[in-house]
Formats: sequence, C-alpha cells, structure tokens
Amino acid sequence: TISIENVKKSFGDAHILKSVSLDIKHQEFTVLLGPSGCGKSTLLRIIAGLETQDTGVIKIGDRTVSHLPPKERNVAMVFQNYAVFPHMTVFENIAFGLRMKKAPEQKIKENVERTATLMHIDHLLHRYSGQLSGGQRQRVAVARALAVEPDVLLMDEPLSNLDALLRLQMRAELKAVLEASKTTTVYVTHDQVEAMSLADRIAVMNAGRIDQYDLPDEIYNNPATEYVGSFIGNPP
Ligand code: ATP
Ligand code: MG
Repeated sequence: TISIENVKKSFGDAHILKSVSLDIKHQEFTVLLGPSGCGKSTLLRIIAGLETQDTGVIKIGDRTVSHLPPKERNVAMVFQNYAVFPHMTVFENIAFGLRMKKAPEQKIKENVERTATLMHIDHLLHRYSGQLSGGQRQRVAVARALAVEPDVLLMDEPLSNLDALLRLQMRAELKAVLEASKTTTVYVTHDQVEAMSLADRIAVMNAGRIDQYDLPDEIYNNPATEYVGSFIGNPP
C-alpha cells in the first residue's frame, strides 16, 4: 500500500494539491486520471521524492518515506520523454539504477537480461540507445525502472509521445508485464480510454483533489461527483 495522508502543495499562492489522502492498494495497477494542470505530475513527483510536500505524510507499506531522498524510497519512475542516455548502450541504460545502488555484477547481468526479455528488447542490449526508435526507447525506460525491483513503479504519461498504433500495442503489453510482475504501479494519464483499459483501480483527480478512487466499473456507473461523471463520459 502507498498511503498518502493529507498531502498539500502550493507553488507561490497557487494551491496545487489541496489535502490529498489516498491509500493505493498493494500490487495493483492504479491509474491517476485527470485533466491537464490538475496536479497529477506534482503528486507523482512527491511520492517519488522529486518534490517536497508542504504538509502530509507518504508511507510505502509500513515505511514512512516522506522525508527520505528519492534513492532511499525504493520507487522507480518512468517519464513521458523517455529519459534514456543516448550515448550509452541499452545494457548500460538498464543497468544504470543497479550500478548506482552498487549491486554486484552478477545481479546486474541477471536483472538486465530478465527485464530486457520482459520488454522484448533483449536483441538490442548492445545497441546505443540513441539509435533506437521512440517505442524502443520507452521499452528501455520501463526495463530500467523494473531492473531495480522497486516497491513502487511510477509512470507519468509514458506512452504519450508514441504514435496511436504503437501506444495501443504498448498499452496492452505494459499491462501484461506489470500484472505478471505484481509491481504496485501508479500510472498518470489524462486519457479516459487509456485509464479504463489499463486500470485495476482509477483515482480521478480534479483541481488538486481526488474525487473518487474506485474500480473502473464503479467510476463509470457510479461516479461520486458530477465532475467524475462528465470527465469519464457518463454524465448524470
Ligand atoms: P498535465 O496533464 O498537463 O501534465 P498535471 O496534472 O500533471 O498536468 P502538474 O504538472 O502537476 O499538472 O501541474 C499542476 C499545476 O502546478 C500547474 O498549474 C503547473 O503550472 C503548476 N506547477 C507544477 N510544477 C510547478 C513548479 N515547479 N513551479 C510552479 N508551478 C508549478
Ligand atoms: Mg503532468
């Protein structure tokens, strides 16, 4: 479980997160869904430790992580613009987090090969990442995140830079991979269709608050607020 308790965040006098409380269930694929600017990335970055909350507490399992630096939280993050290092091979990109953690060489090799196979890029391990397509780079980014065996995987619109067909294909694949790995995942998107097709559970965010956290069916059939109904396409 990721427990988010009463987290608030302002930038200047703009209240971006207005007391967010949410218990994200262990080993589920949760989609954080909401319109542009509602605070999704800010919340994700606070969970990762890349941004500091003004008040509130974050726990992962029974560990309070809110005041730990990112590398002590055992979370991994995948961004929209696949932050892979172009001058490094695919192998070294995937190994990066493990090297930072000073993992033994044997462990690095095993984890890199396992996650590369999972993401279907094992044939690319010795290529330079700068020579890859956008879809292949995003596979590298996901493999790198999984290689460190994180307690929590955070993904911020990871497919939005890909063309429509590739996005559909990667969506199905990601779901299968993450279901199999049982990694607790929070996936940010503003796309309702993507949320419905990927999520075990959806958290709908609206202007710095979570309006509803529920099963996709419930979100659709029993929207908690008028906002949720209209955003999800089933207004009262
Ligand atoms: P999108 O779907 O467009 O990515 P989002 O829901 O991820 O949107 P955030 O990136 O969390 O939204 O931003 C929420 C609000 O906070 C925006 O108005 C943004 O301009 C503001 N904001 C985010 N980060 C900062 C920052 N470091 N300094 C000032 N304002 C910020
Ligand atoms: Mg964002």
